[in-house]
Amino acid sequence: HAKTMGKNNCQFYSSELNQIVHEHLLLEASLGRAIREHELVLGYQPKVDLRTGKVVGAEALVRWQHPVDGTISPERFIPVAEETGLIVPLGEWVIDEACGALKAMDALAVDDFVISVNLSARQLRQRQFADRLAATLARHGINPGKLELEVTESQLMDRPEEAMEVLAQLKALGVRLSIDDFGTGYSSLSHLQKFPVDFIKIDRSFLRDVPHDGHLVITRAIIALGHNLKLKVIAEGVETREQLTFLRDHDCDQMQGYYFSPALSQQTLQEMVSRDARLPD
Ligand code: C2E
Ligand code: MG
Ligand code: MG
Ligand code: MG
Repeated sequence: HAKTMGKNNCQFYSSELNQIVHEHLLLEASLGRAIREHELVLGYQPKVDLRTGKVVGAEALVRWQHPVDGTISPERFIPVAEETGLIVPLGEWVIDEACGALKAMDALAVDDFVISVNLSARQLRQRQFADRLAATLARHGINPGKLELEVTESQLMDRPEEAMEVLAQLKALGVRLSIDDFGTGYSSLSHLQKFPVDFIKIDRSFLRDVPHDGHLVITRAIIALGHNLKLKVIAEGVETREQLTFLRDHDCDQMQGYYFSPALSQQTLQEMVSRDARLPD
């Protein structure tokens, strides 16, 4: 069957490829405009302490509110931004916004509330990234300990020695660091031990079909590994009561996920924190 379709198949693939390239070009052209014209917005997904049930922070997640196409997921445009270099201005905008949100939380007198932002390796590799970040924090009057930077395991392990150097500078600045999507990359354990990070985030794929035995074993192993390295562990993508119970039973420190809340507008997040919303027992 495949053989007789050979020629058509080929056409099929090339037109699909064309479409991908076409979409890519469209995105590239309009993403620059989106940044300038403020079509990007941040959603804030609450993070909860599993022992107290309190909201202890939030992860800033970027969304593109396209005037014609509606909301575009970061999974579609972040890769384009990374390839074109637009990730640098985009990332600066994200940090600036997150600092503004932190300032607003300060006004609510929430003491140890932390906001995390996602970073691309390309941002980390910028010259003087740490110095520029320090300047941004100072301009907003933000205690660096209130900002957390998330970098994925695969991006860190891509050039681990280089990453180590920048992470050390960032650590010296006092910001919090976490390894995102942990378990999906290929960590060298010796590197992992040397990275000056505070948190590891268990990738949501390991929780997806809890109680699936294989994944339970991995989740448990990651929590133990993190704790042995004196790191805190957060699980992302928690959607069910069963997953939550499992994480509590295995001493995971924090969680985020639809079971508690999706990403919220800054205002809704503030309201949630003001009324001291908690994760049910
Ligand atoms: P991530 O950092 O691993 O973020 C977690 C993703 O899981 C988010 O998707 C979030 O909305 C989603 N999520 C949260 N809870 C649940 C849940 O219970 N179930 C399920 N199925 N999903 C959940 P989102 O917002 O689409 O972001 C996707 C990725 O895009 C992020 O993955 C991150 O890698 C990247 N990203 C988002 N914002 C930024 C940014 O400002 N800069 C950079 N460089 N990357 C970003
Ligand atoms: Mg993240
Ligand atoms: Mg993640
Ligand atoms: Mg992810």
